[in-house]
Amino acid sequence: MLLFTCKCPNCSSENIRHDYVYRTISNGDREMFLCQDCKYSFSETKNTFLQDIRKPVSKIWEVLNARTEGTSLNATCRIFKIAKNTLLAWERKFSYLYSTLFIYSMAHTFIQSVIEGDEFYTKVKKNVPAEESSGWTIVLMDRASRFIWEMSCGKKDRSLFEKAIKTLAELVNQTEDITLLTDGERRYGKILFEICHELFQTGMRGRPRKVLKKGVTVRVKNKGSQAHKKGRKRPKYQTTCPQHPETTNHITDKETHANHVEANNAAMRRKCSAYRRKTNTYAKSETGLQRVLNVYWVVHNFLRVHFTTKKVPAVSLGVLECETTPEVLFSAQYV
Ligand SMILES: [Zn+2]
Repeated sequence: MLLFTCKCPNCSSENIRHDYVYRTISNGDREMFLCQDCKYSFSETKNTFLQDIRKPVSKIWEVLNARTEGTSLNATCRIFKIAKNTLLAWERKFSYLYSTLFIYSMAHTFIQSVIEGDEFYTKVKKNVPAEESSGWTIVLMDRASRFIWEMSCGKKDRSLFEKAIKTLAELVNQTEDITLLTDGERRYGKILFEICHELFQTGMRGRPRKVLKKGVTVRVKNKGSQAHKKGRKRPKYQTTCPQHPETTNHITDKETHANHVEANNAAMRRKCSAYRRKTNTYAKSETGLQRVLNVYWVVHNFLRVHFTTKKVPAVSLGVLECETTPEVLFSAQYV
């Protein structure tokens, strides 16, 4: 089974034919292909995670599974007796796999989606005030499938939100009816609004009202009790941006209240050593943190059965027909 059709890495032609088979030391037989258009000869592992990898796939998966179940970089190297640079190289390769699978997933269309947005934080390199840290991580998760669309880290500033919202805007284009639920962070709604609004013609005179795209809802959960405060009490749940009049808001307060992404954040503190509290396994750099997040993204979405739904998130979401194996995923050609 192949995730994508095999293309020529030189000219992108799909007109390729089998050339010959060669034997590898630890990963069995591999095929060589010949491009019929440009006569380029290439191995089936060209431009995939498996290119230049000699260790058996089963061993790599064992190691990466441990890494995404909470074992730190150094501990993983000690346990599996591998060099730190080997493990780092494997993890870095995941950024290509992540981009490829992200594009692949985003090429699907969805009827309805409720996205939960949240942010959480870890220490990077040394202790600095939380606001200055580059260890902020924004998570956007599809509620029903637990598929994580976005997981980017950086300083908690506008550019971090914009990155996440860009993903959301793409998702808006692929989904008929989409709701974003967030926990008190108003910036999501504001930036999303800037990106997604469309001018709505009321037929009346004057400047047309700006509203969100049809089918898009943003709801914010107001944190804490406002009971003791003076003045007008804020409702517990608020729709922050003007909706398109044809958008039907079908999300109840009870549905707004459920929070799965927070549970996922707790899981990530256990499973991603860089997010563990009160230890020295925290990330040493922002690039390093994003590297492990990309690994986590792939493993969480495409390989691991979710504890609650009992399904692999990519299967629940419908971007994969059935569960896949590390072998299949690692042999996907990068786009
Ligand atoms: Zn070619």
